[in-house]
Amino acid sequence: MNEIVRKTQPTVTHASLDPQDWNEFRALAHRMLDETIDSIANVRARPVWQPIPEDVRATFRTDVPRGPSGLADVYREFSESIAPYATGNVHPGFMGWVHGGGTAVGMLAEMLAAGLNANLGGRDHMPIEVERQIVDWMRRLFEFPEGASGIFVTGTSMANLMAVLVARTSALGALARQYGIGNDGALLTAYTSQAAHGCISRAMDIAGLGSDALRKIRVDADHRIDVAALRAQIAIDREVGFKPFLVTASAGTVDIGAIDDLKSLAQLCREEGIWFHVDGAFGALAILSPELAPLLGGIELADSIALDFHKWGQVPYDAGFLLVRDGEQHRQAFAQPAAYLRREARGLAAGAVWPCDLGPDLSRGFRALKTWFTLKTFGTERLGTVIARSCALAKYLETRVLAEPRLELLAPVNLNIVCFRYRAADEINREIVADIQESGIAAPSSTMLDGTFAIRAAIVNHRTDEGDIDALVSAVLEFGARRGGDGLIEVEAPPLAAQ
Ligand SMILES: *Cc1c(COP(=O)(O)O)cnc(C)c1O
Repeated sequence: MNEIVRKTQPTVTHASLDPQDWNEFRALAHRMLDETIDSIANVRARPVWQPIPEDVRATFRTDVPRGPSGLADVYREFSESIAPYATGNVHPGFMGWVHGGGTAVGMLAEMLAAGLNANLGGRDHMPIEVERQIVDWMRRLFEFPEGASGIFVTGTSMANLMAVLVARTSALGALARQYGIGNDGALLTAYTSQAAHGCISRAMDIAGLGSDALRKIRVDADHRIDVAALRAQIAIDREVGFKPFLVTASAGTVDIGAIDDLKSLAQLCREEGIWFHVDGAFGALAILSPELAPLLGGIELADSIALDFHKWGQVPYDAGFLLVRDGEQHRQAFAQPAAYLRREARGLAAGAVWPCDLGPDLSRGFRALKTWFTLKTFGTERLGTVIARSCALAKYLETRVLAEPRLELLAPVNLNIVCFRYRAADEINREIVADIQESGIAAPSSTMLDGTFAIRAAIVNHRTDEGDIDALVSAVLEFGARRGGDGLIEVEAPPLAAQ
């Protein structure tokens, strides 16, 4: 018998990083879990955000920790100096930028994933099947064909960059990966709207095509790309010898949540033989809501879609995703043979195509698990309801703004984003936003619309309700009166903060 005999060898020193006393560790771990659950359950008791005190910041300017510290001490430092000064997007009063609120379920899944410590670059193990399951769910939701492929990435910035790279390889052929983009590559031009996210321009830059090769087409009054102007620009570019290769549509612009006319764009791209990519960072998941899904009509015709589960999907950061209609083209843009990554027919090295064939990362974490837990535990219908409700709350805020003479609505409310102002100078509105953030009552952000400063509230968090909207409106009026009323400017955060 070829019995494998395990030899027990005397240990030289205790080199393992496992706890010496598992019971003590377990007790502390349970406390951490309890306190984390409490902090999520009682999130309303805290300010949305608070400025980091300088002495706290200073404690994070220390030398390399060469010796050990007790886990309890390190945890205390986390509890006292890190947790209270986070962004605040768990809080229902957070309405800045586009931030997801996360869920307690997602938090648990992150813990379970960390326990497995899976590497999802490749090989044959069940965590990769979980990722493939979600790829298939997304394929079904967006009505992509069987051969579609997809991959988890950090966020939509990365997914948009990868879409540019797939479209580039598709336009130039796979040899461009070896020879570089060459003269043909220098002629490639891409198109998006003036309202598109800045990461699209950056993707062109990083891809080596140059941000100047991205044409930013004007938008209509609703911030949707002007399709006629796009068609005209493509014709002009072809005329002078450029090679239009990519149109990136926005499904939910970051300023006002506008959704481009995806059907017309799909048709235009098909006629022109141009890759049609959709930046659906937050908006694409509106597909989960039967009442909102029609707004995305045409997304099923895209060549690729970028989206974030960490925004409207409420999955904890980070969980971006890229879906590509033609899985083979996706693979051709990234796959690379390497002896140490040889695929086998059986054993742990089986199971190709591996995720590392579909993106720039080799080692990858288990982002799929928190997404799988979120989709399974809540179900897509309930998540769709949450998404629809944040749009209803945006409508409620719109109503409040329209009913209040001291406020002015600055853009149509398409989805979940409301841009408005206190009727006073831009400078005052800028101060109002900072005042509200520092008060801890709410955290709106800002944007510029047609040269006017806008207070911007994006309702993404599933915990947000009418009361939070009312608190935001009251805070804008209160701080506006203080800032604008008689020029009386208080430096201290006013007593409104208690809530
Ligand atoms: C958030 C966002 C992005 C960037 O996504 P990240 O996940 O932050 O990288 C791109 N486009 C739009 C429309 C967005 O809202």
